[in-house]
Amino acid sequence: MSPESKPAPSRIGTALRSPGAQPRGGLVPQPKIDKRPTYLLSRVYTEGSHTLAGYKKAGGYAALEKVLRTPLSYAQVIEIVKDSGLRGRGGAGFSCGMKWSFMPDPTKDPRPRYLAINADESEPGTCKDRVLMERDPHGLIEGALIACYAMRAQAAYIYVRGEYRLSYDRMLAALAEARAAGLVGKNILGTDFSCEIWMHRGAGAYICGEETGLMESLEGKRGHPRPKPPFPAGFGLWGKPTTVNNVETIFNVPFIVEGGAAWYKTMGTEKSPGNILAGLSGHIERPGVYELPLGLPAREILEVYGGGVWKGRKLKAWIPGGSSCGLMPAALIDAKMDHDSIKAAGSMLGTAAMIFFDETACTVRAMEVIARFYDHESCGQCSQCREGTQWLSQIFRRIEHGKGRMEDIALLESLAKGMAPAKTICALADAAAIPTLASVKHFRHELEEHVKLGRCPFQTGSQIAIPELAHAH
Ligand code: SF4
Repeated sequence: MSPESKPAPSRIGTALRSPGAQPRGGLVPQPKIDKRPTYLLSRVYTEGSHTLAGYKKAGGYAALEKVLRTPLSYAQVIEIVKDSGLRGRGGAGFSCGMKWSFMPDPTKDPRPRYLAINADESEPGTCKDRVLMERDPHGLIEGALIACYAMRAQAAYIYVRGEYRLSYDRMLAALAEARAAGLVGKNILGTDFSCEIWMHRGAGAYICGEETGLMESLEGKRGHPRPKPPFPAGFGLWGKPTTVNNVETIFNVPFIVEGGAAWYKTMGTEKSPGNILAGLSGHIERPGVYELPLGLPAREILEVYGGGVWKGRKLKAWIPGGSSCGLMPAALIDAKMDHDSIKAAGSMLGTAAMIFFDETACTVRAMEVIARFYDHESCGQCSQCREGTQWLSQIFRRIEHGKGRMEDIALLESLAKGMAPAKTICALADAAAIPTLASVKHFRHELEEHVKLGRCPFQTGSQIAIPELAHAH
């Protein structure tokens, strides 16, 4: 069966969700913890938080006023963001201020320049940007305007995941309000700063969340990632200098401009300052999106924010930052949730989309779902990815369904090592290979047990729901 003719697997974030426990929109009350300030979600619980009136009542657009009326120079804004240590919240964790400073000097390179905001949010388990766009769209608009000012970009394009209809509608409505109020368009707030913001809806391809695939898609082409170099700062949208930032990254900017870099660095860790939105899902009591400082132990996040493993069961495994980060065993639950600590523990912070599995979950079945997702979403340009993701998916499927061979485990490892690290145009091949290697490393015993028994040993009890084998190839 060709990849094109395979049916789409359900999104893993949905498949791993605790049945019936996920509140609509992912927003649940934030636990109040002394001396732990929150700012990202400070407005979202208020009625009308998505309107211009609601935003202004909460002090909105004060950071933009500060930038334009002081006025702060372009370089000063970049310096504040650089000083704050803000790291990208889309997965890579690169310094935001540094990324902005890669844009060429407009006195030497007068080409138009753009900001592209990645609101595609398709990494399985990730649901945080949606909360911001639905409940606080003006926060994103204000951040985009300040970012465009600092980089001297004429326009920002917000690329929203196609399934996020409410996010799109709320962003469009907020943009119309902002435009009518003179906050978007020509001569913003009566100054000589002009900037447009345009919305674009994706059509359901995971790969359009990759920055170069996103730009191709924005240009009206198939979302095929481009080889790098050239990098977007030199050759981005329509071949012009472009910076691609994630929604939550841009959302941090007005707070940093208002509060200052020193304030921002009072939260989080030295190398990962600030708060982060963590999306908690899986077998826990209180799934949802929470704001917490970077560097908290995962155990505290699970117990204090997530309410612990559901039904009083034991934890078996967890994923720190979305499906591409790989399964971690319960023994590593004391790892701290910041970029460096999680890397030292053998995984990645990713988008802080934490997925928890209780003792009744089958890790092989979870990997079968994850592998099938990447198989389906591969764009097919690179042979390692196109063929490798299909092989991984097939092998996990046959092990889970009792047809596996002991040598399949070595084959999984060998295939994954042939796909990563950085052997392909984009990181999708890595995203499939990394969890595969993690599963062989931490849960080899479960793979072996499936092969020895000739069936899944977790056939009874609470299981992660996946579609039936009918469409196996
Ligand atoms: Fe396409 Fe996969 Fe290559 Fe990325 S790694 S460009 S998704 S084939």
